[in-house]
Amino acid sequence: MRAPYRGRFAPSPTGPLHFGSLVAAVGSFLRARHCGGDWLVRMEDLDPPREVPGAAEEILRALAALGLDWDGEVAVQSRRTARYERALERLAAGGWTYRCNCSRAELRRKGRGGALGPIYPGTCRRSPPAATTAAAVRVKTGDDVIAFHDQIQGPYAQNLAREVGDFVVHRADSLFAYQLAVVVDDAAQGVTEVVRGTDLLDSTPRQVHLQRLLDLPTPGYCHLPIAVDAAGAKLSKQTGAAPVDTERPARALRAALAFLGQPSPPPRLSEPRALLRWAVGRWQPGSVPRRLTITFP
Ligand code: GLU
Repeated sequence: MRAPYRGRFAPSPTGPLHFGSLVAAVGSFLRARHCGGDWLVRMEDLDPPREVPGAAEEILRALAALGLDWDGEVAVQSRRTARYERALERLAAGGWTYRCNCSRAELRRKGRGGALGPIYPGTCRRSPPAATTAAAVRVKTGDDVIAFHDQIQGPYAQNLAREVGDFVVHRADSLFAYQLAVVVDDAAQGVTEVVRGTDLLDSTPRQVHLQRLLDLPTPGYCHLPIAVDAAGAKLSKQTGAAPVDTERPARALRAALAFLGQPSPPPRLSEPRALLRWAVGRWQPGSVPRRLTITFP
């Protein structure tokens, strides 16, 4: 029997919900509800230096005001670190990790430039630092191609060793890396499909690699185009994206639906839950533009 559909929205509490994150929330919500499945919310608060106090509560308040009602309790990553620790131990026990104390400057100097940044040259894999020095933990990558089929973007493949290199799963400042936490949580929460922005499309092969090493299932993937400004920069708190106006929820939802190429709800629908119900029934993944970015507005 196939597992029932389970989707999720996993914001980082680095600021209020803005149009870019609203698109991911609405897309993942419609897809989950259209499939008759659950929609979970997970707060990805593993990077305190980047977080803004009160942002997590503000995001949840905005989702509720928009009628984006989630199932169950909100999972909070900062309370789940024991799971990430166990995963890290498991990778280490399999001989898949090593400690690395290369500085960023060293990496820039020595690493071959890849599309995603410097490719780690394997310095510490060959000669690991002394056990007493503070170090990050990297996971080894292999010289094979990891391929998957994205529901919207189509086939995607990456040779991790050549295009990314061994990557960090635990930082030198003792924080768990997003790549590890996301894989552990998606599996622990029984997520069957990940719907999110294309800014994470090129992270997916790293996540599939970790799923394989940890013997976890690989969910389906569906990467939605992301909103960018006129200069091509992703709308984000850093680029000053405005918070979603939760006083006018129907307007915000209509804008997200239009961005995702979905039919436009009749003007009489002004209550957010009624509007979403209408949109759930008419969700068409085939109408989502097969593009990495769309300029907004
Ligand atoms: N927390 C990540 C972000 O806000 C999203 C993670 C994911 O959807 O896998 O960019």
